Amino acid sequence: MHRGVSRRQHSVEQRQIAVLQELRAALERKEFRLLFQPVFSRDLRLVALEALVRWEHPLRGLLPPSEFISICEESGLIVELGRRVLHEAAHHYAFLVPQGLGHVRLSVNVSAMQFAHGLLDDVRRVVEEFDLPFGALELELTESVIVDDPERAAQVMVALAELGVTIASAIADFGVGYSSLRYLKRLPIHRLKIDRSFVNDLESDESDRSICEAVIALARTLRLGVVAEGVESIFQRDWLRTSGAGELQGYLFAKPVSFAAATSAEPEPSAM
Ligand code: C2E
Ligand code: CA
Ligand code: CA
Repeated sequence: MHRGVSRRQHSVEQRQIAVLQELRAALERKEFRLLFQPVFSRDLRLVALEALVRWEHPLRGLLPPSEFISICEESGLIVELGRRVLHEAAHHYAFLVPQGLGHVRLSVNVSAMQFAHGLLDDVRRVVEEFDLPFGALELELTESVIVDDPERAAQVMVALAELGVTIASAIADFGVGYSSLRYLKRLPIHRLKIDRSFVNDLESDESDRSICEAVIALARTLRLGVVAEGVESIFQRDWLRTSGAGELQGYLFAKPVSFAAATSAEPEPSAM
């Protein structure tokens, strides 16, 4: 029994080492791609595009982040990958403008490790290189970024805000502690993102409805925007809209797709 477990453990480790080597090679061979998932306002106008990374594996096809992000985080590769994602996302701003979409935010996910390793310099560089106006770039941060080192996080976030970067934070983590709520008030956070896990069961789960209502009320008090992600049903859309969520994202409207597809996305499912 014990031997079985440790053997399995061993093979998991072997597999991770193999994947890590593959990931290093993939970075060298430039096998990562971005998809963009549209975010819509209450009146269904395109307001943001969230960049979501994929690995175009030569044999296995397009792989989702669940196949590689945690290994990148554990190994530190996320710093280089994150830098590429940031650069690639920012590069697209110039393509929004001629389409009359200059107001649309490009939203980039940032890991805690990336935040702690040169994020500010990387952002400064892309803002300059692509001449990004205020509000064009948004970073999605998780609570771990702040909890690890609140003072330093605050400094970096203030500097990011001065560069015109807006910051969205997942409320999944934030709702919990009083201390987190205090950070929320003190830090330059512009938007709260309601995690998909709270949206999933809105129709059947009263406590999830209460959580969403609490987040929306909190955002209103602190004058922050609210984005609800993972909207899959008409019920969820209507409930969130009525409850005051300002922005909506989810498969009901659009999946993550190529930049070209995302910028011409139709917000409503076509009527039949
Ligand atoms: P996330 O930031 O919470 O992104 C939302 C995830 O939910 C995406 O999965 C998206 O495809 C999926 N999603 C969006 N709407 C719906 C919906 O209506 N229903 C369902 N079932 N799913 C929906 P994806 O692209 O597989 O990304 C997973 C996670 O990987 C992301 O979660 C994010 O934490 C991470 N990730 C993605 N790209 C990057 C990146 O460039 N850097 C970093 N550090 N993390 C990334
Ligand atoms: Ca995100
Ligand atoms: Ca999420």
